[in-house]
Amino acid sequence: MLAGPATGRVTAPLALTFAALLLLLPALIWPLGTVASLGAQRQTWLETGVSALWNGGFRSLATLVGLFSVALPYVYLGLLTWVLGSLRFGLGGPLGTLFRWVKYVRPWMMIEVYLVGCFVAYSRIKVVATIEIGAGGWCLLAASLAFLLALTQLDERTVWAALSVEDAGKRGTQTIACTVCDLIVAGTEEGRTCPRCAAKLHVRKPDAIKRTAALVIAGFLLYVPANVLPVLTTVRLGRAEENTILSGVLELIQNDLWPLAIIVFVASIILPLLKLCGLTWMLLATYRRSGRLLVGRTRFYRMIDLVGRWSNIDVFTVSVLIAALRFGALTEVHAGDGLVAFAAVVVITMVATSVFDTRLMWDACGREPGRRHDRNA
Ligand SMILES: [Zn+2]
Repeated sequence: MLAGPATGRVTAPLALTFAALLLLLPALIWPLGTVASLGAQRQTWLETGVSALWNGGFRSLATLVGLFSVALPYVYLGLLTWVLGSLRFGLGGPLGTLFRWVKYVRPWMMIEVYLVGCFVAYSRIKVVATIEIGAGGWCLLAASLAFLLALTQLDERTVWAALSVEDAGKRGTQTIACTVCDLIVAGTEEGRTCPRCAAKLHVRKPDAIKRTAALVIAGFLLYVPANVLPVLTTVRLGRAEENTILSGVLELIQNDLWPLAIIVFVASIILPLLKLCGLTWMLLATYRRSGRLLVGRTRFYRMIDLVGRWSNIDVFTVSVLIAALRFGALTEVHAGDGLVAFAAVVVITMVATSVFDTRLMWDACGREPGRRHDRNA
C-alpha cells in the first residue's frame, strides 16, 4: 500500500508520548520488584541489570542493555515530545533533522521488548523464589502501554507534511527518493543533504551489497557460539548449572510455560537464522540477476526488518535474572560468553537489514520496483 490519507493528528500522540516519558522517570527511581528467597530479600531497579553485567566483566553487554532499555527510550520519547510539541505550539527549530533521529533511534529503543524479557524472567524466578512487582515495575508497564498507544496515533506523514520544504528541485529523468522522509528530489542532488530531513541523499544506499554480505558472514560465524556456549550460569547452593539458549527454552517447557517457550524459541533461535538465510537469499538472487519472487522477497525483507529486534528478549531476560537473583551462596546467576555472541548476532543482523537496499534486487534484473510482472517469471 502506497499511502492512505494523513491523519493530521498531533495532539493525541503528543499527549501519549509525554505521558510515557513522565511514567518512565519513576521507573528509574522506584524498584521494579522485590525477590525473596529463604528469608533474604533483594530489590531490583531498571539499572541493576546493567550494573550487574558491568561488574561481572560483561561491559559490552552492559552497554548494550543500558542503551536499549534505559538511555534510548528516554532519548526517543524526549525527541518525539520535542518535535510534536513544537508542531503543536508552532515553535520552530531543526525539526526535520530531529524527526530523522526519531526514526533512526526507533528500532534501537526496546522498551516493549525489554518488558517481554522481564516477563520471561519473572516467570522463571517464580519457580525458585517469591517475587513481588514494585511501583517502578508498574510504571514501566504503564509507560510501555502509553508508548505503544502513542505509536498507533502517530502518523509520520502528518509530521513530514507539516515540515514543508520549498521547491524540491526539478523532476528530471532521474529522481532520488529520500530513504528517511520519502521526499522526491532531482537526481543531480546525489551526495547532498535532503532539504527536509538533512539525511544524505543517494540514488541507492552506498555499498549496500558489500556491507550486507560482510555483516551476514559475521552473523553466521557468531550464530554458532551464540547457540553452543552457555548464555547464563545458575549457581544454587554451590552447584553450578549452565544454560544455553536452547536449554533455557527446554527449562520453560519443563515448568509448563509453553507460550513463553514458543516466544523465546522463535525470537532467539528461529528469527536470527531466518534473517541470515533471508538476506543470503536476497544477496544471491541480486548477484545472479534473478527476477523470481521479487514481490515476495521485498515483502520478506520488510518483515525481517520489522521483527528482528525481538530477538533481544533473551539478552534482557538474562540481565533481569542476574539483577534479581543475587543471594550469594544460595542462588546466583552469571552471564555466559554465549550471550555476548548472541547479542552481537542480533545487532549485526539489525544493521545488515538496514544497510541493504531492496531496490537493488529490482535493478539487477532490469525492472522497476512496484510493477507486478514477476508472476510470469
Ligand atoms: Zn529526507
